[in-house]
Amino acid sequence: MKERIYKFLAPDFEVDDHFELRRIVLTKIFISITFIILTICALMNYFVFNDTQIAVLDTIGMTVAAYAIFFLGKADRVELAIKISNINLFVFFLAYAYMNQNSDFGFIWVMFFPIFLFPLNGHVHGLWISILFHLMLFSMSYYYIDVWQDGAWNLHSFIRLVFATVVLNYVVYINEHTVYRTHKELKFMKEKMDEYVHLIEGISRKDPLTNIYNRRAIVEHIENQIELAKRYGHPFCVMLFDIDYFKSVNDTYGHDMGDEVLQTMSAFLKKHLRGSDIIGRWGGEEFIVVMIESDIRLGYSKAEDLRERICNLGFTRPKLAISASIGVTEYKKGDSVNDLVKHADIAMYTAKSQGRNRVHVYNGIPS
Ligand code: GH3
Ligand code: MG
Ligand code: MG
Repeated sequence: MKERIYKFLAPDFEVDDHFELRRIVLTKIFISITFIILTICALMNYFVFNDTQIAVLDTIGMTVAAYAIFFLGKADRVELAIKISNINLFVFFLAYAYMNQNSDFGFIWVMFFPIFLFPLNGHVHGLWISILFHLMLFSMSYYYIDVWQDGAWNLHSFIRLVFATVVLNYVVYINEHTVYRTHKELKFMKEKMDEYVHLIEGISRKDPLTNIYNRRAIVEHIENQIELAKRYGHPFCVMLFDIDYFKSVNDTYGHDMGDEVLQTMSAFLKKHLRGSDIIGRWGGEEFIVVMIESDIRLGYSKAEDLRERICNLGFTRPKLAISASIGVTEYKKGDSVNDLVKHADIAMYTAKSQGRNRVHVYNGIPS
């Protein structure tokens, strides 16, 4: 039962904004309440009080409320449902006040108008509608002094009605305004928080010196690629680059120059690889590249191309000759991230031991 009620109250379309969600849920609740109360009132007035006039009015209000409920299901109809409900209650309460003439304390029902009105229309629109409604109500009730309530409706009753409804409207208005302001503040804070989370996520996945992915992010990317390879059979390669004799760059030209070489290397890799390839700094002077949609032949030829280009990078001031040794491996069924990196590392060390400035493929290129 509880779940069915929740299901009825929750909109069947996506609503991101919590304030909007509250408005839709309240609209459903209020229109349903209007429908239920007016149905009960209609039956009571017909069969218990024999007040046919009010019973007819209740039936009209109830029917319009049922019609508005029908409109609530779809996203683009909520506004229409609210408009129908506004007009319904506006006309109903004025007509009711006119007919009831505060007999048996009947005006107590009119007090519900602002309570329904403000949450559905917001504090600004709600206020205008409420002012219009109450101007009409007050004019009418002033006009009928000494007439309504079998002649007992006097100036004192009128002033009490005005005073009580103004206080009620003020309280409901302030409440709605506060909810709105709080929501705005929370929304702003949430946006800021999302921004920071996004920023921190970015920072935690990037290497600060070279602004390419760090080891953590690369491991995640390789894990994703393994999943894709398992599911769709897409081939991919992992390359490990190690700058040759990098220590001597630091020793000879200083650490700052070493940093500059690392930055130039990452910019170079970004420039010469496909946008879809994933580039990261594995550690010190080691870079890692995940070449997606590439088998070992493509991986090897790309690594060769890059190696040659690195030799020709040409640092002028000071004149530096940089080279790299590269290990390449292709994902094979059953490989883990560790296996892939280990294989690329073994291949890279083989390239080093064979004299550096060369590419080596783990387990060779199949013929
Ligand atoms: P090999 O050809 O065998 O790779 O020799 P190598 O000198 O490149 O290798 P080694 O492992 O002996 O030295 C790597 C150097 O990289 C040592 C370390 O000071 C330097 N290094 C690591 N991280 C950074 C960094 O962030 N900035 C700078 N400037 N140097 C770094
Ligand atoms: Mg190294
Ligand atoms: Mg090195």
